Amino acid sequence: MPGIIIFSEDSMLAAQLMTPALELKQSLNQPITALALSEADAKALAALGADHAVFLQSAGKWVDGCAEAIFAQVNKAAASIVLIGGTLRGKTIAAYVAARMNAGMTTDAKTLKVENGKLLATRVLYAGLALCEEAVVLPAVATIRSRTFLAPPAAATPGTVESVTVETDARVTLGAVSPTGDTGVDITTAGKLVAVGRGFRKKEDLKLAEELAAVLKAELACTRGIAEDEHWLPIARYVGISGQTVKPDLYLAVGLSGQVQHMVGCRESKVIVAVNTDERAPIFEAADYGIVGDLYEVLPLLTAALRK
Ligand SMILES: Cc1cc2nc3c(=O)[nH]c(=O)nc-3n(C[C@H](O)[C@H](O)[C@H](O)COP(=O)(O)OP(=O)(O)OC[C@H]3O[C@@H](n4cnc5c(N)ncnc54)[C@H](O)[C@@H]3O)c2cc1C
Repeated sequence: MPGIIIFSEDSMLAAQLMTPALELKQSLNQPITALALSEADAKALAALGADHAVFLQSAGKWVDGCAEAIFAQVNKAAASIVLIGGTLRGKTIAAYVAARMNAGMTTDAKTLKVENGKLLATRVLYAGLALCEEAVVLPAVATIRSRTFLAPPAAATPGTVESVTVETDARVTLGAVSPTGDTGVDITTAGKLVAVGRGFRKKEDLKLAEELAAVLKAELACTRGIAEDEHWLPIARYVGISGQTVKPDLYLAVGLSGQVQHMVGCRESKVIVAVNTDERAPIFEAADYGIVGDLYEVLPLLTAALRK
């Protein structure tokens, strides 16, 4: 019987993939097999409602270390739909698996449904200016970015867990691992973010945002220019179409214009607050609350008021 397969090397994203997988299961009436790189992850996915979870024992975390093993499981399950976490690595794995399956693939799907033997996926187009619907004939592969879905609650009856020893491609070995220089902070899971843009004149001035973030117990995020052009913050902290997608309860946007390429990564935040000198800045269209003012005056006042 054909099935639905999910995989992500990122445990939290794997759990989130269970939500669309369970929805697809309802319409297709096919079992879900979750693939994982650790036994703990396999058990967690079985607890979330995967009918069967497979721990790919000794599979490497790099693409060549696990892509063929994932394809073997896809083949075994005669998968009709394969959902893969849309990380950089996940997208490469998805492309590999789709090619091996000779199947079509869609990336960064926002919604998924099956109609007339096709997987219909909506995805953002033109840097967030439009949504398009893609139809991929089954079997199909789709990647889904982090935080597109919330993980489902625990299932009433957990699925079964199996360990499979995997042979990795012996031609590829992991020589060394170097840190990326990031702080290790994952802004995609933060409940509150203070996001900074080019309204800050120099790196030292980010201290104003750091102080506000400390009072709010928030993490710092930024626009692409701050991370990629100025290198004031690590790239893992920038939000947008080519950066991270975030969904915090509070997104406090300071000195950033709110261009569509940035907003596509944060527009699903619960509350957006903007501080900007330009009352016509696009950020005010998305903001729930706005302060038209100079961040160099507003931020110290806000921090002091919140400290009280
Ligand atoms: C293909 C493509 C992909 C892209 N992907 C991304 C992406 O993923 N993420 C991303 O962020 N960008 C991305 N961009 C860039 C994006 O288009 C914008 O250029 C960028 O987001 C703007 O950054 P910013 O808001 O920091 O700067 P600006 O647009 O220069 O805005 C600075 C803002 O600060 C305000 N300001 C100035 N001084 C003060 C002050 N003293 N107090 C308060 N406010 C002040 C100004 O009024 C202005 O609104 C992408 C662009 C392209 C073409």
